[in-house]
Amino acid sequence: MMADGSSVEKGQPGLAEAALFGLCPRCGAKGLFAGAARFAPSCKVCGLDYGQYNVGDGPAAFLTMIIGAITVALALWVEFTFDPPVWVHALLWIPFVAITTLAGLRLSKAALLAAEYQRKARQATGEDLRKPPSAGPGQSGD
Ligand SMILES: [Zn+2]
Repeated sequence: MMADGSSVEKGQPGLAEAALFGLCPRCGAKGLFAGAARFAPSCKVCGLDYGQYNVGDGPAAFLTMIIGAITVALALWVEFTFDPPVWVHALLWIPFVAITTLAGLRLSKAALLAAEYQRKARQATGEDLRKPPSAGPGQSGD
């Protein structure tokens, strides 16, 4: 049985790998996502609880701005280069935005979860508040 080591253990996927393929940050198994951009409740292989990590809406806000800027730039270029009818824009940019947003969300959410796992970040609980802030590990005094 492997102890909960402090450094990255063997068999763990890298950050980019985990993000690209939706891998579990602990065991590298596929199946991080249960839906299009929704995490599974836990890893089917090692049982890591994905629910303890809260990646929040940070990626979504960034993606909105980045994808919005890219889409506007591309739409302007297409408009001035080909001068197409309006329906061509609808046909191009609606699927483009849907796909890039979904792909970007999956990538960034998986990357954040893997980063949180590797750094052992998690939601603060009441337990954390009850601990005196000065008591570090190793100090056992009573
Ligand atoms: Zn796993």
